[in-house]
Amino acid sequence: MDIRAVRGMNDILPEEAVLWRFVEEEARRIFALYGFEELRPPLLERTELFLRGIGDETDVVEKQMYTFTDKGGDSVTLRPEATACVLRAVIEHGILNKDPVAKLYTIGPMFRYERPQKGRFRQFHQINAERLGEDGPLADAETLAMAYDIVRSVLGGEGLVMEVNSLGCKQCRPAFTEALKAFLAAREDLLCSDCRRRMVSNPLRVLDCKVPTCKEAVMDAPTLDATLCGGCREHHECVKEGLDALGVRYEQNVHLVRGLDYYTRTTFEIVSASLGSNSAVAGGGRYDDLLGLLGGPPVGGIGFAIGMERLVMLAPEGLAKKGEGCFVAAQNTHEARLEALRLMMELRGNGIPADSALGRSFKAQMRRADKGGHPVCVIVGEEELRTGTVSLRDMRTGSQETVPRADLVSRILSVLDKGKGEKA
Ligand SMILES: [Zn+2]
Ligand SMILES: [Zn+2]
Repeated sequence: MDIRAVRGMNDILPEEAVLWRFVEEEARRIFALYGFEELRPPLLERTELFLRGIGDETDVVEKQMYTFTDKGGDSVTLRPEATACVLRAVIEHGILNKDPVAKLYTIGPMFRYERPQKGRFRQFHQINAERLGEDGPLADAETLAMAYDIVRSVLGGEGLVMEVNSLGCKQCRPAFTEALKAFLAAREDLLCSDCRRRMVSNPLRVLDCKVPTCKEAVMDAPTLDATLCGGCREHHECVKEGLDALGVRYEQNVHLVRGLDYYTRTTFEIVSASLGSNSAVAGGGRYDDLLGLLGGPPVGGIGFAIGMERLVMLAPEGLAKKGEGCFVAAQNTHEARLEALRLMMELRGNGIPADSALGRSFKAQMRRADKGGHPVCVIVGEEELRTGTVSLRDMRTGSQETVPRADLVSRILSVLDKGKGEKA
């Protein structure tokens, strides 16, 4: 048999999963600090949701969706992003009818049919947050700070920059769009075929195109800051004031346009110097019309997504350590092994991880104890059974002691504690 993983789908192996879990736990910890609650939507949604919720002129919808017809004849899609799914759930369950404010997060896999390359997979993972029901700019600032906190808790603050911009609103964006259309029309022959089509239907997308000639062509394109209305300008200034108050370092980037259609006003990315170009670790923004567009109440929101692959890739070494516990080995008699089982249940009952390989010979068990990295090995043999004791070997020093069976838990706890003290 030679069955391999589907192209672009990646196994996260145990030694990597330790770090993934660390990142998830940090995110959950910080979400709790900010009063966010978890919502877990399914991975599969009706295709229509993304056509409406992301915009059918985007790369995601045009080229990258995992869409298929299920056995009932419905067109369904593996979610390419989380926002539309979370908002669909909010509307479906009337969450905003019970409470006008919702602060929700979700963590999990997304799917896009992109060309696989280093660090980029067709199943990838995001930490996602949506904050609904607050129009004021300080809600934006606090949400941006939360994204920054999560990224910083894994990567440290060095080399991280928050880039912010305002994309304007329904009132002021049309003036910008017209100016941009005129600018693009004069450079049409420099644009890729996709952009030539988009420059009429959705010119903002052209600013986001990854084709080098397009990037170059739009370098001097008009920027939004010149055409923002009074309300948008004030909102944006206040977001920045809020970021100052929260102690988040940021830079204004007037060229920042996110790849999804629905953003209004605040948009942001967190970039890491160690990633070079295309260096965003996180990004998001405000979407005041999206909930209404999906059939919900006309309530604004702001959200973000953090790319977990990038966080894990950039995380410093040694961040997540293997759980500290003991290995339990028993000599080659049935009685000794039964006693080892009892010991392990007692250890686990006291919160001490207990690993073993009782299905193997004593010699093989001890080899595993040597390699396993557990600081303590508990040994049960004929002699120990007869005298009501157990042997404890400190795997860091190699020294061994015999302790009364009844003292096992307290003795191990003190050895594990001492190990921690030495490392600190
Ligand atoms: Zn405006
Ligand atoms: Zn292009």
